Amino acid sequence: AALLLAAGSLTACSNGSSSGTAANTANASSAKIGLLLPDSVTARYESADKPLFEAKIKSLCPDCTVLYSNADGDAAKQQQQAESMLTQGVNVLVLDPFDGEAAASIVGEAKAKNIPVISYDRLINSADLSYYISFDNEKVGELQGQALVDKLKADGAAADAGILMVNGSPTDNNASQFKAGAHKIIDASGYKILAEYDTPGWDPAQAQTWVAGQITQFGPQIVGLYAANDGTAGGAIAALKGANVSPLPPVTGQDAELAGIQRILAGDQFMTVYKAFKPEAEQAATLAVSLAKGESVTPTSNTTTKGGASIPSFLLTPVAVTAANIESTVVADGFYKASDICTAD
Ligand code: BGC
Repeated sequence: AALLLAAGSLTACSNGSSSGTAANTANASSAKIGLLLPDSVTARYESADKPLFEAKIKSLCPDCTVLYSNADGDAAKQQQQAESMLTQGVNVLVLDPFDGEAAASIVGEAKAKNIPVISYDRLINSADLSYYISFDNEKVGELQGQALVDKLKADGAAADAGILMVNGSPTDNNASQFKAGAHKIIDASGYKILAEYDTPGWDPAQAQTWVAGQITQFGPQIVGLYAANDGTAGGAIAALKGANVSPLPPVTGQDAELAGIQRILAGDQFMTVYKAFKPEAEQAATLAVSLAKGESVTPTSNTTTKGGASIPSFLLTPVAVTAANIESTVVADGFYKASDICTAD
C-alpha cells in the first residue's frame, strides 16, 4: 500500500509539475511577437525579411503569433504601430526603425512594460535595447566605394573624374555608416565627389529627381554614381536614361534585389551588395522566441550607440556582387533561382 501510495503521490506530483510546466510553456509557446519594418519603397521588407521571419517563428514556435506593421516611411506612424502592439500584449518587439533617434521613445515605452526590444537591421539610439542584429554596415559602404573606384580605374577614367553620391535616409543610422565606408575609399582614391545627397526615406523617386538635376548641372563630368541601395540606384538609372546619357556610368547599389540583379545582367547597373537576409531574419526570430521564454542568449559582439550604450549584437558579413559572381553568390546561396532572374519576357 505504501508503495502504491508512493507511486500514487509520485504520479500526482509528476502530473502537477508537468501541468505547471505546461502552463508556463503554453505562455511562451503562444507568445505574441511584434515585427515592425520601416518603409514600403524598398523590396526587401515584404519580399524577404517578413516572410523569412514569420517562417522561422512558425518552425520554432508553432503557436506563437507574429504581429506585423510597416511604417511606410513615417516615424509617427511607426510609434503608433508599436504602441498598438504593446496594447495588444506583445511579448517581444523586433523593431527596424524608420528613425533611429525617434524610435528610442518606443524602446522606452516597451521597457516600462518589461517588453524586450531587438533593434533589427538599423540601430536605435537607446541604452534600453536588448539586442541589435545587422550587418557590418561600414563594410557595405567600403565594398560599394571600392567596386566603384576599381571600375573607374579599369575604365581609365581621368584621375580627377567626378562621382555623384546618392546616400540613404538621414534618419537611418545604417545610411551614415554606408556613407562613411564609401567616403573612406572614394576620398582616398583621388576621384572627385561632384555633389552628394541624403535621400529622404530612401525614396527612389526623390533620388531620381535629384540625379536629373545633377545631370543638367554636371553633364559629362559624371563618370561614376554611388547609389546606397538598389532602390535609389533604380531612380538614378532612370534619370540617366531619361537624359539619354550613354554609355551609362557605373552605378552601385545594395540589397541584391531582383530588379537590381536584373539591371546588372542587362548592363545598366554595375554592382550591388548581397546581404543574406535569411540568417539575419532567422537570427532575429530565434532571439525573439528565446526572449519570450525569458532565456538570454550570448551575443557575438557589442555595438556602441551614438549615446555611448553598449548593445549585445550579431553582425553578419556583406558580399559585393557584379555580373561576374551573381551565380556564385545569390544563386549558389539559394536566394534566387536562375529562373527567377531570367524571366522570359
Ligand atoms: C537597409 C538596406 C535598405 C535601406 C532602405 C537600410 O537600413 O540596411 O538594406 O535598402 O535601409 O530601406
